[in-house]
Amino acid sequence: MKLDAKAIRYLTSEDFRVLAACEAGSRNHEVVPTPLISQLSGLRGGSGVNRAISNLAKINLIAKVKNAKYDGYRLAYGGLDYLALNAHQKSKVIYSVGNQIGVGKESDIIVVADSTGAQRIMKIHRLGRISFRTVKTNRDYLRHRSSAPWMYMSRLAAMKEFAFMKALRENGFSVPEPIAQNRHTIVMSLIDAFPLRQISKVADPAGLYSELMNMILELARYGLIHGDFNEFNILIKEELDPEMKGKELTEEEEDEHIRLVPVIIDFPQMVSVDHVNAEMYFDRDVECIKRYFKRKFHFVSESKGPTFAEARKKLLKNPGKRLDVEVEASGFSRKMARELEAYMADVGVKGDGEVSKDSGEDDEDVDEDDEKESGSEAEEASDTHETKGSEDVDDNTKRLEGLRV
Ligand code: ADP
Ligand code: MG
Repeated sequence: MKLDAKAIRYLTSEDFRVLAACEAGSRNHEVVPTPLISQLSGLRGGSGVNRAISNLAKINLIAKVKNAKYDGYRLAYGGLDYLALNAHQKSKVIYSVGNQIGVGKESDIIVVADSTGAQRIMKIHRLGRISFRTVKTNRDYLRHRSSAPWMYMSRLAAMKEFAFMKALRENGFSVPEPIAQNRHTIVMSLIDAFPLRQISKVADPAGLYSELMNMILELARYGLIHGDFNEFNILIKEELDPEMKGKELTEEEEDEHIRLVPVIIDFPQMVSVDHVNAEMYFDRDVECIKRYFKRKFHFVSESKGPTFAEARKKLLKNPGKRLDVEVEASGFSRKMARELEAYMADVGVKGDGEVSKDSGEDDEDVDEDDEKESGSEAEEASDTHETKGSEDVDDNTKRLEGLRV
């Protein structure tokens, strides 16, 4: 689902109150009865409420549903998007909305800007947008919120991602700067870089490989396993050596002094090293990188591992702060983590790495050129994310103006 922010400027504060009333009502009503919307909005007089309802329905932020017993409305994803955008705008996190740069199964990635024009990324979590109807409503974690699991679960995913990004950032990990979270959205700094998936040549694959393995080990030392550590979730920033900055360099010299700096993103699948399947997740993260480096850069490390046992040993010998424990204490509780995990398993949420495996893309005999010919690149883009590179970022500035929220 695309975010279409155009109509947001024309909504009145009454419209927003009615929208928020639909949101509140849908926590325990699958279809929110019209009189309840009116009551929850706190607006006097029916005509204003009715006008707002029809405005909101016209632009598909809410949808009319004829129930067996009564008529009412259901909050749509678009409605939740607008509530979140409105909140971000009020707290001055977002001033304008630009291009959508990524469309995944479970999220939309959008370039936004603050009032100074500084660009940021808003990630909208859309858990279960494809298959939320297939989840059995008698699941334990849904018993008390059977009305709109997609709304609750997408918010949990955003809370989880924000909490981990914050803890990681504060402890020196190379991740985007988390700026704000509201409902099912997070806002973070924009990393002007391409995913490793789009990098065709690396001067020193061994160096990058060992840096990535060290990151996996370092995460484990802080009690964490990424859970979806792969070429889509590692952005590669090109940084010039500090001592070379400001100097006139030829292209060759520049190449020589460019450092590749990995930045890790995408944390909804992160688990603690104490998780029952920790070893499986750890090994899978390691394997993903090994397989990718072999296929893409024809690089195979001489050393085996790292294994989960080695990571554990490091953790015990020289423990980092336990970020798994810290995040739990910060408000994203163990219960929430369990609910989210159960739901993700139920609706079949897969990491980017698993998707690429499914599409046969990891076949070791396939190299980049064959892939292009066979068209699997395009297939895979639609399977995971259609992402535009950073050259589009400049363009966005112009387009941002037109879509002020
Ligand atoms: P998903 O959970 O749907 O995989 P991700 O968080 O991995 O979502 O983001 C999808 C894509 O969007 C990434 O592969 C990357 O290209 C782009 N992206 C996400 N966050 C940022 C960011 N902070 N800066 C730049 N690009 C980003
Ligand atoms: Mg991803």
